[in-house]
Order: sequence, then structure tokens, then C-alpha cells
Amino acid sequence: MIIRQKVPRLGLILPAYNEQEVLKITLTKLRIIRSELVKSGAITADSFIMIVDDGSKDRTWALVNEYEATNPDIIGVKLSRNFGHQPALLAGMSEASKLADIVITLDADLQDNPEIIGQMVAKYHEGYEIVYAVRSSRQTDTWFKRNTALAFYKIAAWLGVDLIPNHADFRLMSKTSVAALMKLPERNLFLRAMVPLLGYPSTEVTYERGKRQAGQSKYPLKKMLTFAIDGITSFSVKPIRFLFDLGILVVGIAGIEIVYTIFEKMFGNPQSGWSSLMISIWLLGGINLIAIGVVGIYIGKIFTEVKQRPRFQIENVTGLKEPENQADI
Ligand code: UDP
Ligand code: MG
Repeated sequence: MIIRQKVPRLGLILPAYNEQEVLKITLTKLRIIRSELVKSGAITADSFIMIVDDGSKDRTWALVNEYEATNPDIIGVKLSRNFGHQPALLAGMSEASKLADIVITLDADLQDNPEIIGQMVAKYHEGYEIVYAVRSSRQTDTWFKRNTALAFYKIAAWLGVDLIPNHADFRLMSKTSVAALMKLPERNLFLRAMVPLLGYPSTEVTYERGKRQAGQSKYPLKKMLTFAIDGITSFSVKPIRFLFDLGILVVGIAGIEIVYTIFEKMFGNPQSGWSSLMISIWLLGGINLIAIGVVGIYIGKIFTEVKQRPRFQIENVTGLKEPENQADI
């Protein structure tokens, strides 16, 4: 069922941080897919691939420039420093949606299978504004990554964060929905929870997540953990509420202990309670520290939000061609 009248101009957005090893493989593959879609009439001939260089320290930007100089379908956006994956995606979406009718964000290492881009565009033709690519299997991820991810989705759901399980940042968005996303003013970006909040007609397409084609992951364990904690605390205040409830419980237990001690003093023979004393001190000390830590995380978020710093800073955009030069290649 096709309900759109106009053939859309597509912008494929690749955030890239130190991706010199893989960029060539990725661009070769994506350019073939782009051409096929142009030939089939799904997207316009001036559809493009936009690489957002997130402050790379290797030859990524030089490679982007080489490609852009010889290929009319490549646009390079250079951020002024490394802002991180999420801000790089947002920068790409904001730039690309100035030109394109639809944008698709995907990783530069081809882990997000580009073969399903055609299906995603087809869903747009059916009338959807947002298309989420969802991983049907994570067999290529390590056991550790699979299970930590599973735990993350469970905890997030329990805390009331509305996420689409096994969807990361591989998605199609229409110009309209990107404009709505840009209205969300937050600095702590967690796009996979922000986009569902927009509420436009959306659907899912499944794919098998592949292996990174070359180079190293830019998400070591520590960064992954920070990202997970950031994501949850940006979208749920339940952890603070939970601490409050825990506090009440602990005070309740202490109350029972007091009553018990009084009774013991009156009717029994009191014990010298070294171990119970030590356990209580350490336990309560620990709970206190965790509680202060969680409150600290939220105060930290308030701190970054009130500063109102720009979420990304574009230093340079290359490869914007005049319309007459944009031929299908
Ligand atoms: N990336 C980025 N800025 C960063 C870290 C990563 O733009 O600070 C990009 C990276 O180049 C890649 C994507 O984000 O295109 C996902 O990163 P990666 O593949 O390293 O993560 P993983 O797949 O291992 O979770
Ligand atoms: Mg990857």
C-alpha cells in the first residue's frame, strides 16, 4: 500500500569516530544500496550519504574529503571536537533534514545491516513517519554484551522508561518527526527513548545485527555502563523514589530493633552485640552512600541542563552541491 505522492530525498547519516579502517568498506556498500534504491524509484537521485566526523583523531575526515571531492552523493559534517555518539547523530539529523525528506541513521561499521534500508523506505511510502530497525538476533555480539543489554532493557522497563527492546539508533525519521525531535531541549541525549516520546505513526523492521567490519568498538565497558545509567536517569525519577522507600523501610527496621532491645532489657538478659552493631553501621553507611550517589546523579543532570550549552558544534560542512550537479552515480 503506497500513500505518499512524492518520491522522498533520503539522507543516510553515519556518525564516525576514528573509523578510518572501516569507512571505505561502508561507503562502497552504502553507495551501491543508494544507487539501487534510486533506480527502483524509491528515493530521488539527489539522495545522499552524510558522514558526521565526531572529532576523529585519525584520517577519517581526510577520507571523507577524498570521497566528497569525487562523489556527488557524499556530504561531510565535521564537529569541532568529540561530542559523543548521540550528539553526533543529532547534529547529522539536524543538518541532513535541511536537505532531505527522510533520514536514516546507522553505525559506520556496518553492524546495522544496510540491506534493510529498502524495507524501511517502503514503510515510509506506506505512511509511517518513524521506522525503528529492531535486532532479531544478537548472536554476533558477545555473551556478555547480549546479557547486559537484556538486563538493561528489563531494568529500564521496570523503571518506566519506554524503550523499544533491541532497537538502538538505526532508524528512519521523516523531516516532520526530526523537526519535532529538535524541539526537545535536553542536553542529556538518549535518542532511543526520546524518539518514541514524539508519538508519530511508527513501525518496526527486523534485521540481524552483524559483526563490526573493521576497526575497534568505540564503546568500551565503562562507556557502555555510563550510557545505560545516563539513559535511565534521564527518563525516570523512580530511582530517587525507590531510595525514599528504602529509607522508610530501614527506619522501620531500626524501630523494631529499639522496641526489641527495650523488651530484652526489661525481661531478658541483654547480649553484648558487637556483630549486629558493625553490620548495622556498614549496611546503613553503604545505603547512605548509594542514596547520596543517586541524588548526585540527578543533581549532575540538572547542572548540565541549566548550563544550556550547545549539544553539538559544527565546524565545517563539505560536499554540498548545486542541484544540477547531483546526478545519479
Ligand atoms: N561513535 C561516535 N562518537 C563516539 C563514539 C562512537 O560517533 O564518541 C560512532 C562510531 O564511529 C560508530 C557508532 O558511533 O559509527 C557506534 O559505535 P561502535 O560501533 O564503536 O559501538 P558498538 O557497536 O561497539 O556498541
Ligand atoms: Mg559497532
